[in-house]
Amino acid sequence: AKRQGRNNYQFYSSDLSQTTIERIDIERSLRRALKNDEFLLHYQPQINLEADRIVGVEALLRWNRNHCEMIPPDRFISIAEDSGCIVEMGEWVLLTAFKDAVQWNSGREHPITVAINLSSRQFIHNNLFASIKRLIKKTGCNPAWITLEITESLLLNDSAHIRNTLKNLDKMGFRISLDDFGTGYSALSYLNKFPVSEIKIDQSFVQGIASNNDHRLLVQAIISMAKSLNKELVAEGVETAAQAKYLLGYDCKVVQGYLFSKPKPFDDIDLQAAWTSAL
Ligand code: C2E
Ligand code: CA
Ligand code: CA
Ligand code: CA
Repeated sequence: AKRQGRNNYQFYSSDLSQTTIERIDIERSLRRALKNDEFLLHYQPQINLEADRIVGVEALLRWNRNHCEMIPPDRFISIAEDSGCIVEMGEWVLLTAFKDAVQWNSGREHPITVAINLSSRQFIHNNLFASIKRLIKKTGCNPAWITLEITESLLLNDSAHIRNTLKNLDKMGFRISLDDFGTGYSALSYLNKFPVSEIKIDQSFVQGIASNNDHRLLVQAIISMAKSLNKELVAEGVETAAQAKYLLGYDCKVVQGYLFSKPKPFDDIDLQAAWTSAL
């Protein structure tokens, strides 16, 4: 019995320790990554299909670990959140995206908005509003050029601190977008309690449009709800022309996805391009 117990223990322990070791390893190298300049932002275009032009981009964090290995966000964001590193990384993302927004928009007739993902952990850190204000001052970025993406879970606690932070950001001119809409708890009551100006239809629903009748109905319901609440809409994860046409048919004009472009470095974003020839 003892031997069997020991074998079991070893089996589970090597399984466990592998994930634990990977987490510890990632956490340790994350702490060096900022100093070593290992992060970069890629940007994914958001297209207004009716106007046939780019109206925004979403900033997506990339980690080039030791300048030789690209680690996808799914492997390090949650570790950065648990360890608290996300606060400093998030400030780097804000600073870099603000600078890039200034480069893109100075002297432009139709400014493009730069969407930035915020983790709930950055809100719990008291000074989010203060540091955003400082970074705006430092870069000369116009808050109207920036969309801050949050997730439903942030609004669920309904804390005064979060409500005030969002209210202050809204007053300063930022747009607030609700990311991954439909995947969370979807208590619709909070939509008008917080200064949310846009909702992003989650890619799982968009990708189910052709195959899943429930997803089709959900997409319709989200679109008509957004309209009646006067929220702007973006559909993400658009991969096929059929999905784009369906969305446009229900008057969801702004789309983002591999059909149009993968996330790309700043220099590869073409603000003059036309897009709807793909349809
Ligand atoms: P998200 O905010 O929902 O971002 C959309 C993800 O879908 C991105 O993955 C994007 O590359 C991917 N995507 C875009 N179009 C398509 C498509 O047509 N098909 C498919 N299958 N995927 C598509 P990515 O870049 O790997 O980022 C994953 C997640 O990591 C993001 O999900 C976001 O939650 C988080 N993340 C990324 N950058 C940041 C950041 O700067 N800060 C924070 N806090 N989180 C970030
Ligand atoms: Ca997002
Ligand atoms: Ca999303
Ligand atoms: Ca997400």
